[in-house]
Amino acid sequence: MKTQSKRARNSRKIRRIRGIAILALIIALFIIGGTTKKLNNIANNVVEAKKIEETLDIMTDKNPVKIALNEEIRMVQEEKSNLKNEIADENNKEAEKNKDTKIAYLTFDDGPSENVTPEILDILSQYNIKATFFVVGNSAEKNPDIVKRIHEENHGIGNHTYSHRYKHIYTNTTNFLNEIKATERVLQNILGNDFETNIIRFPGGSFEKYKNPFKKVISENGYKYYDWNSLNGDAEGKNIPKNKLVSRLKATSNGKKELIILMHDTSAKKTTVEALPEIIEYLQKQGYEFGVLN
Ligand SMILES: [Zn+2]
Repeated sequence: MKTQSKRARNSRKIRRIRGIAILALIIALFIIGGTTKKLNNIANNVVEAKKIEETLDIMTDKNPVKIALNEEIRMVQEEKSNLKNEIADENNKEAEKNKDTKIAYLTFDDGPSENVTPEILDILSQYNIKATFFVVGNSAEKNPDIVKRIHEENHGIGNHTYSHRYKHIYTNTTNFLNEIKATERVLQNILGNDFETNIIRFPGGSFEKYKNPFKKVISENGYKYYDWNSLNGDAEGKNIPKNKLVSRLKATSNGKKELIILMHDTSAKKTTVEALPEIIEYLQKQGYEFGVLN
């Protein structure tokens, strides 16, 4: 009985152990299966990760093409910023310059004349100042030496028509253009065929509406014309006293940064000569520099 039950107990024990072993085996197989699956998943993930890494490489700084591109972009941006600074500097300089620079263009019309023009040239030379002479062709023809002197002393020479006769020159644009060409020939006869000037002053200025077709024609033919924004008033009467000329200049130039000053050098304009030194000194005190029109 005792032995029998012992055997039965052993057999139960064996069955239990076997059961446990089978269970363990199942669990082990299950775990191994799971692990294999996990390993496969990991392997797949690694492949995926590598693919992603490769893709990312193109977009990250590791890629040589990208490095070169980045360098290029950096250089272009640097260049752009340098250019911006340069432009800003230039603009500042220009603004600074414009703020300070006052310029006066002395202009003498209707000459040259035998008596007045040389005196004006003497004064300009004393002050070492250049001016612009809008000469009338037939006066130039009569005074070739004075034209030469104007040119040799580096003043500007402009065209003020040949005859200055309003009735003729403003009848039609052909007359006007012919007169401009005639004065050009006079000047080339005196100064040589290399001499050219493309600046014009309209007799009486270009202000009136009826002169619009004339302005159009001369622009189309490559000329530039200059009016004035300041004057000494020497055309407003005969022998206007020097002081009046000076005060007229002061009144008409007041507050202007750029002056184109109308004066005349015909033989009657003796007070223009008298007033000129005072006008120059006044303008110098006001901070003007003197320029030549071109
Ligand atoms: Zn004139």
